[in-house]
Amino acid sequence: MKVFKFGGASIKNADAIKNMCQIIANNATEKLVVVVSAMGKTTNNLESLLFNKAKQEAQDENLKSLLEYHMDICRELFPSDHNIFNLLIDQISELRTTLNKEMPFDQLYDQTVSVGELISSTIITNYLNLKGTSSLWLDAREYIRTSNSFREGHVDWKVTEELIKHDVKELAKDQILVTQGFIGRADNGLTTTLGREGSDFTAAIFASCLSAESVTVWKDVPGILNGDPKKVADTILFDELPYQEAAEMTYYGATVIHPKTIKPLANKGIPLYVRSFDHPDEPGTIIHDCKLRTDLPPTIIIKNDQCLLSFKVVDFTFINEDNLSLIFKTVSENDIKINIMQNSAISFSIVIDNDMKKIQKLMVSLKDHFDIRYNSGLQLITLKNYKPSTLQEYRKDKKILLEQISRNNYRALIAP
Ligand code: ASP
Repeated sequence: MKVFKFGGASIKNADAIKNMCQIIANNATEKLVVVVSAMGKTTNNLESLLFNKAKQEAQDENLKSLLEYHMDICRELFPSDHNIFNLLIDQISELRTTLNKEMPFDQLYDQTVSVGELISSTIITNYLNLKGTSSLWLDAREYIRTSNSFREGHVDWKVTEELIKHDVKELAKDQILVTQGFIGRADNGLTTTLGREGSDFTAAIFASCLSAESVTVWKDVPGILNGDPKKVADTILFDELPYQEAAEMTYYGATVIHPKTIKPLANKGIPLYVRSFDHPDEPGTIIHDCKLRTDLPPTIIIKNDQCLLSFKVVDFTFINEDNLSLIFKTVSENDIKINIMQNSAISFSIVIDNDMKKIQKLMVSLKDHFDIRYNSGLQLITLKNYKPSTLQEYRKDKKILLEQISRNNYRALIAP
């Protein structure tokens, strides 16, 4: 049993879907679970639908373009009398009904954005069948059970494993299984999502519960590089990486793999391949149990749009454990992830993603205890496995607001 995952870019138009289905057909002798994201930028478009909910005209316009985007793709893939066109119309009209429901925002968010994966998986299953690769559409929500923490569902591993083990292997005997990434279901029956970009994690959940032979994530890059080629020049491709190294890269902000993906695979020793959907014959990168090579250049991870928040004590005491614990408690209550932190005698600084709503809530909660300053629009750079001899090169001409050097990593917060 193998698990394949295809992200939004690999299914963004009809040609991409044809290519994807060819990759699947070439591997159809295997038992295969195929996890798909929403097509192209659909999840972002569904988010804007929600944010424009109050504006009826904008909503109608957005729904129309969502339907047209998928219809156009289907027109290139299917004969005009194929049932897929009715299925699409039904899915979009159901979405319109959902949008008009009264429920808390995060709950409505999950009911809305999950539609992207429901549509893409429907199109792909139908296209595979049309092209003679026998496929079955699986509703991931029937298998992946989560807490009801909407937008960041926590997986109930015990129940999920039982459900997946119950029939997925059996179903995979005679056909390819196509399912949705990113979505699950809470106890109350409502759809949940696993956090943005969560489809990689879905693939890891299925693979772990099935003790699969491997997971392959098909991407628009040749594999894992030592930097994002859109931000870093002259990148090199890793042919292999240890689980630990790949997990740490995601912690520091590498977006090539979702941060939660590695752990369930590492626990079971399941290899994770990252391969190019444009060059499916190339081996890409394998993440597995191996030693990290020491002869490679550092990995450069750049996180943009960072915000530096500094909490200064106002009562002539020092930063101590009591005020640190107050800050951490409030940060955690607001569901904020600290990307780097540092303290001086009278001030404690954290660097976080720039989410104004969360930052304002945090500042309001702590304003009576500290004098709070913040700078936004910053860049956090991590050099993993840096070489001391080349460090100056990276520091040159930069306005560094905060810097940390350990044996393996160099990190710096840079102002524009
Ligand atoms: N479609 C979702 C997103 O764009 C999940 C994913 O693609 O992994 O965040």
